[in-house]
Amino acid sequence: MAYDPENIFAKILRGQIPCRKVYEDDHVLAFHDINPQAPVHVLIIPKGAYSSLQDFGANASVDEIAFFFRAVSKIAADLNLVEPGYRTLSNAGLNAGQEVPHFHLHLFGGRPLGPMLARP
Ligand code: AMP
Repeated sequence: MAYDPENIFAKILRGQIPCRKVYEDDHVLAFHDINPQAPVHVLIIPKGAYSSLQDFGANASVDEIAFFFRAVSKIAADLNLVEPGYRTLSNAGLNAGQEVPHFHLHLFGGRPLGPMLARP
């Protein structure tokens, strides 16, 4: 999937669209999902232009990948999700129903999250 610089998260990164920011550093931005599916539902995105987890895992630098997952752990800890537990999820491509073509990790918490996948 070619990266579309007009996707909504690219616009958030450029400050063209507001977000409810949770965390930011030189490599990563995290903000509340506009349509939360749990009491805590945060989206964590790299600042680099990667269209999906597939693209990020294959093409990001080792540093970008490390900074990203260090940030995920910090955000989960800052939101007090470590002890009660949390879930991360990344939709990649059509079968997963990925809507926004900028790699993002969903971070869910704040209640027992139930089964991993909805039944068809
Ligand atoms: P996905 O289906 O994995 O691509 O998820 C995209 C997510 O982005 C959905 O959970 C949407 O609710 C969320 N979303 C879309 N637009 C915005 C926005 N402007 N601010 C925050 N979250 C958004």
